[in-house]
Order: sequence, then C-alpha cells, then structure tokens
Amino acid sequence: MSSSKVNHTSQSILNPKTTEYEFLGPIGAFLMITVLPTLVYVLNVSCTFDGCPPYYYIEPYFKAPLSFLYHYSPWYLVSLFDAAAFVAYICFLIYLYLTWLYLPGEWVEGTVLRNGKRLKYKQNGFDTLLLTLFVIAATLIVIGTGPFLFVFDHYIGLITASTIVSFAASIYVYLDSFEGDKLLALGGNTGNVIYDFMIGRELNPRIGDFDIKYLVELRPGLIGWMIIDVSMAICQYVELGEITFALFLVVVFQIWYVVDALYMESSVLTTIDITTDGFGWMLCFGNLTWLPFTYSIQARYLVLSPIGLSWFSIFIIMILKAVGYVIFREANTEKNIFRNDPNDPRVRHLKYITTKQGSRLLVSGWWGVARHINYFGDWLMAWSWCLPCGFDDIFPYFYVVYFAVLLVHREIRDETKCKNKYKKDWDRYCEIVKWRIIPGVY
Ligand code: NDP
Repeated sequence: MSSSKVNHTSQSILNPKTTEYEFLGPIGAFLMITVLPTLVYVLNVSCTFDGCPPYYYIEPYFKAPLSFLYHYSPWYLVSLFDAAAFVAYICFLIYLYLTWLYLPGEWVEGTVLRNGKRLKYKQNGFDTLLLTLFVIAATLIVIGTGPFLFVFDHYIGLITASTIVSFAASIYVYLDSFEGDKLLALGGNTGNVIYDFMIGRELNPRIGDFDIKYLVELRPGLIGWMIIDVSMAICQYVELGEITFALFLVVVFQIWYVVDALYMESSVLTTIDITTDGFGWMLCFGNLTWLPFTYSIQARYLVLSPIGLSWFSIFIIMILKAVGYVIFREANTEKNIFRNDPNDPRVRHLKYITTKQGSRLLVSGWWGVARHINYFGDWLMAWSWCLPCGFDDIFPYFYVVYFAVLLVHREIRDETKCKNKYKKDWDRYCEIVKWRIIPGVY
C-alpha cells in the first residue's frame, strides 16, 4: 500500500464524513449567510434620532411591502461602502495582529485534540485591552473627540467593512482547509459547500503559530464593541454636555463583560467554539460583525434617544447585573478549573461522576443546579443592558430575544454533543441534574 493511501485512510478515520446537519442544513446555512448581514443593517440603519425604528421608516412597508425592492437597489448597497471606514477598520485589525505578535504573553496549551496533539496559544488579550484603553485615553487628550465621532458618523461604513472582511476571511479558511492534512471539525465535513463554508470546516486554521479562530474569537469583536461603546459615550457628551446615567450603566456593564472575557482569556480554550466548532463564516461573521454591531445597539440607541432612569429602575438593573455576573462567572470558572485540574483545592470538594469515556462530570456546585446555569447568568446580564433603554422602542430589546434563542439552541447542540460523547453516562448525569438552564423553569 502506498504511503499516500495510508495517509488518506488515516485522514478519513480522523476526519469522518459529517452525516447530520444542524441549522436546517444547506438551506438554513444559505439563509443565515444572507439574512443575518441584512439584519445587522436593518437594526442599525433604521435607528435614527426619531426612534428605533422610526414610524416613518416602517410605515411605507406596511402599505406596500415590496417597496423595499425599489429602495434597496444595487446602488443603495454600493452606498453602504465607505472607503474611510474601510481603511479605519483594516488599521484596527492590523493593530490587533501587531499587539498579538509583539506584546508579551504566556503560551498555554489547549485541550487534547482528536489527533492526540495539544495546540499552544499566546495569551495577551488582556494586555491588548489595557493598551487599547491607554490608546483611547491618549487619543482623547492629544487629538480630541474627532476619532470617536468618526465611529458614530461612519457606523454603517464600519459594518460594511467588517462584513467584507468576514466574508473574505471565511472564504480563505474554507479553501485552505483542503490543503494538507488538516484536522476538521466533526460537524463541518459534510461535503456540501454552502453548509461547510457556513459552519466551519477546519477546526483550528492557523498560519504558523497564529491561530485565526482564537484571535478572532475574543479580540476584534470584544475590543471593537468596547471602542464603539466608549465612542457612543463621548458622542453623547459632545451632544448633551453630559453622559446620562442610562448610557453610563450600559457602557460600564458592557465594558465589564469585555474586561472579564479578556481577563479570563484562558477559559475560552474549553468553550464549544474552540474545542468543537470549526472556524467558518458563522464564527467569523459572528465575531467580526454581529457581536460589535448588534451588541452595541443599546449604547447607540441611548445616544439617539437619551432617557432618564428612576432610582428604583437603577437599583433593579444593578441587582440583575450583579446576580447574573456572579452566576455566569462562578459557573464558568468552576468548570474551567475542574477541567484543567480536578484536584485543585477550589473544586476538590465537589461531587462528580466518572464517565466510561474518562472525563468527569460535576454533579454538585453550580453544575449541579442546572446543566447550563452559566447561560442563565449570561441572560440575566443581557436584561441589565437592555432595560436602561426604557420601553419606548423595541429594537434595544433585540439582544435579549436573540440571546435567548442563541442560548437555547446552543444548549440543545451541546446536549447532543455530550450525549454522543458520554452516551449512558450523560443520561445518568441528566437524571441527577434535571434542569437544562433555569432551575424550576427549563
Ligand atoms: P460551556 O462553557 O457551557 O461548556 C459546555 C461543555 O462543558 C460541555 O460540552 C462539556 O464539555 C462540559 N460540561 C458540561 N457539563 C459538565 C459538567 N457537569 N462538568 C464538567 N464539564 C461539563 O459552553 P459554551 O462555550 O457554550 O459557553 C461558555 C460561556 O460563554 C457561557 O457562559 C455562555 O453564556 C457564553 N457565551 C456567550 C455568548 C455571547 O454572545 N455573549 C455566545 C456563546 C457563549 P466536555 O465534557 O467535552 O469538556
């Protein structure tokens, strides 16, 4: 038998054909690729100083639903491109790459892969965040508010820039996944071009030591989101001469979320995105475009429609954020420590079951309360970001609705993954920990 045949056989054992579709298969993949970018534009273009969406924006479509075909001609689409915003966005990505390359950082190992290897990842995301905060402060002092007003004024152009980059990057990683002996994601090797392109074919696309998924996962989306939020606060200050308490809460809460994610950078190595999902359009567009430009809807809304909050509302919102954060952080940290070292003194007292597959599953502590209690904490925090926007408009609440759908769907996907991995042991675990996300409810 020739060595290339041996190689081919071992590759197909390592990378079995994916036989089951998620997200409604190729049709769902096509819809995601076309509808989600459109939705990002709709959510942002239709938020103006007159409301979110303003009545005059939606009224014509009630009367003549097909009139959007006339309004959104190819020329309209071309007008969404903004050269200055494109250059600014590319500079931002280059900055992130250079900070990854030159800022010092510890190289840590990821989880064991199917081929028995462990990849190394350079952790300097938090330092990048601190440097970015310093750059923001220095820009404000030396240049003034201009660059931050640029973000507000060129917002739609920035969305277009990030969308172009996310399509370009996902086409590159898809084509590159056919080169050499790549480790593919178990869910991304169906052979259907649209589906594999969307869900992600290769597990860990890399250029040398540079892990594309890892860098895209935490930095452009989260740091970009923080810059947008800060820009919105500066914009409001320029407009009103003050920052309202509502906007202050949204900006502080969301930056807190970003700081937390980057401070706990190593935790991302045990998340589904890194361990299981391939890197394709979904993660690329999700992190480059969807996250920064839909998660900042509340901050932008509050610049367009400033509101005041009663002390009672502020109290409720702060409680929601605090409770959500404690659940989210404690649960994620507990699992992360346990996965890295079950004998760590911080988790040694917790009860667990040992599976035939070798791993242990926690059945006490946070993971004994519900099988994804971490999602519940995250969702409570989502409410604390939306409620400061009051109840005049619906679009600021897009995030809590979308996030509930995402988390329920993600939980179902993870259950399927764990059921396939742990088989009867997973049923045993579900017998002990009955609730999926919210104890007593779901
Ligand atoms: P989780 O951190 O919930 O990890 C799920 C994995 O944990 C399972 O696949 C399994 O992996 C392991 N596991 C499950 N049960 C147990 C147990 N009892 N004991 C030990 N290990 C267990 O997955 P996610 O990546 O979905 O979420 C991470 C965080 O990111 C969450 O807080 C979520 O809310 C947040 N998130 C936020 C998003 C946003 O847009 N803001 C988007 C997505 C997630 P194995 O056994 O194979 O190790």
